[in-house]
Amino acid sequence: MLQESITKLAGVGEKRAQALADLGIVTIENLLSYYPFRYDDIKERNLAEINDQEKVTIKGIVVSPPVVNRFGYKKSRLQFRMMQDRDVFSVSFFNQPYLKDKVVVSEDIAIYGKWDAKRKALTGMKILGAKQEGDFAPIYHVSKAVRQQTLVDLIRKAFARFGDQIEENLPLSLMEKYRLMGRKDAMYAMHFPQDPDQHHQAKRRVVFEEFFLFQMKIQGLKKEEKSEKHGIVISYDVERVKEFTQKLPFKLTGAQKRVTNEICRDFLQPKHMQRLLQGDVGSGKTVVAAIALYAAVTAGFQGALMVPTEILAQQHLGSLQQLFDPLEVHTALLTSSTKSKERQQIIEQLQQGEIDVVVGTHSLIQEGVDFSNLGLVITDEQHRFGVNQRRGLREKGFQPDVLFMTATPIPRTLAITAYGEMDVSIIDEMPAGRIPVETRWIKRGQLSDALKNAQLELQNGRQMYVICPLIEESETLDVQNAVELYEELKNYFAPEFVVGLLHGKMKSEEKEAIMEGFKENEIQVLVSTTVIEVGVDVPNATTLLIMDADRFGLAQLHQLRGRVGRGQEASYCILVANPKNELGKERMKIMTETNNGFIVSQKDLELRGPGEVFGFKQSGLPEFVAADIVADANVLEVAKDEAQNLWQKKDWQLLPEYAGLFSYLKETDKENQFFD
Ligand code: ADP
Ligand code: MG
Repeated sequence: MLQESITKLAGVGEKRAQALADLGIVTIENLLSYYPFRYDDIKERNLAEINDQEKVTIKGIVVSPPVVNRFGYKKSRLQFRMMQDRDVFSVSFFNQPYLKDKVVVSEDIAIYGKWDAKRKALTGMKILGAKQEGDFAPIYHVSKAVRQQTLVDLIRKAFARFGDQIEENLPLSLMEKYRLMGRKDAMYAMHFPQDPDQHHQAKRRVVFEEFFLFQMKIQGLKKEEKSEKHGIVISYDVERVKEFTQKLPFKLTGAQKRVTNEICRDFLQPKHMQRLLQGDVGSGKTVVAAIALYAAVTAGFQGALMVPTEILAQQHLGSLQQLFDPLEVHTALLTSSTKSKERQQIIEQLQQGEIDVVVGTHSLIQEGVDFSNLGLVITDEQHRFGVNQRRGLREKGFQPDVLFMTATPIPRTLAITAYGEMDVSIIDEMPAGRIPVETRWIKRGQLSDALKNAQLELQNGRQMYVICPLIEESETLDVQNAVELYEELKNYFAPEFVVGLLHGKMKSEEKEAIMEGFKENEIQVLVSTTVIEVGVDVPNATTLLIMDADRFGLAQLHQLRGRVGRGQEASYCILVANPKNELGKERMKIMTETNNGFIVSQKDLELRGPGEVFGFKQSGLPEFVAADIVADANVLEVAKDEAQNLWQKKDWQLLPEYAGLFSYLKETDKENQFFD
């Protein structure tokens, strides 16, 4: 069985198994599909045809005894001369004195290294064994505890012993349609290709397989989720909902109306709604959430709104109360800092059905909270809300409809991967009258000019955010930085303007007080770490200054930028950065060039890759072994269509052609998420 532990292999004891597990290799299959990230071309070459600085394998005879020179602590150089045909040249190995024993005068030797044509010298990287298989040596990501050669040996061993158990898991029809290599051959060729073309074919097969299997699972899940046994009907009161929207302080945009209708249509179906609501920052998702919650309440259900931070919970509760209080819709706030007595009371009221809508952080659904009749769960800033939390709800016996809201627009390829099981609604229109935020990138040296401009804005009655540099490793440093910056700006702006400070280590009451002060314009300049990243709404703030902006990811910068440009005034986002590399410069340029969140996130994906953008673990996004959702996007589309087609086929699981596929899916679905 390929799903067996690698300890089944001779030479893999507990210690090595642990070292391999650190690389993500736990089963035999993990090992067999631990593919190299590149290959060294080790074909033997003639000196005459080798370019300067090329990495090559050269075979010849050792013509002078090896000499080791040591210099300094741990540093050494092993040197000898070697001959190919009539040409003699010198070979050096640095810091590998132990290779000396392998160099014997008059014997053949093959060395992989870098050729210096001018000096006629080879800087050796490794001495190759007597028999090399193939012209390409696989190079793996390894660790200190697992060396390249160890891994190669283990993989060969695994193929020898388990290779015959690699069974085909793609249906023949697809293999023929897309001219795909067989599974076993492809897996082998991924490690030990005979030539680049064979590698290309192997890769094509492996990438398709990964995407297709994943899509089979996710499409299966979608089908399951949508089946009627999971759902509830929320028969909302059309008239009351209409009246509610008419009383809003503004007219809904066309896009807001459209997505609201999409949601309401889901309500009336006996299916389980799983809808992703995407909309750029400031596009007005909150009011859509309010309408949806209200609709659920008119149908006699309770609703929950979950957000990532306390500040945001507080703010959302405030906006909901304005809309709901006159209508006798009872709301409550429940976060981890709710006092235990109050908490107890809220929990009771939720159980009794006395509270209609509860707003809170994730802990809302985790800590012993029960509802009398939960019908709708909305999560804001979805990327921080993981798959497991979604499941948690179901385990409690609730089957609410779920709406995920995100302001980080997701490129299509990512959406079908990460959220393939969901329906997607998009708000692609901004409320009328918005003036796009003007983004500028300045160097640190220009900061004083920027502050002068900001001061003019403040004198016009506007407010400003200042975002401190992000220091990932240390929250303490983060805070320290924020405090320093705060002191400096306080001196700079005193006595004319009040400067406030907000950071992650503050108590939630303190944070609330500061936010309240900023909202009420008692504070004009708010210095903050990224705690304001999501959702905060203060339309009078027109300047956003981000220090060391190159330390932030693009999506995050865009998110931050959404804090301004929320009112009727022109607003500015100032990126202060002296980027150390091209990537940093590129990010700054992109930010100044576009205000469109979809473009920003596509660029982010291209520059950083999906893992960084999303944080795999949280998003439930799978980590693909060979496939790359950016580079292989077209394969992903095809694989998705094929998986959808197959799920359309009635009882495909029972057809002989899909036996291999079905048993593979079942076997690898350990948590029985998809196939039980
Ligand atoms: P986000 O999508 O970023 O969550 P919000 O829901 O916070 O956006 O809305 C941003 C601002 O736009 C809020 O002040 C909100 O009241 C306002 N707003 C929302 N919809 C409209 C609209 N149709 N017309 C005018 N202003 C709107
Ligand atoms: Mg929002």
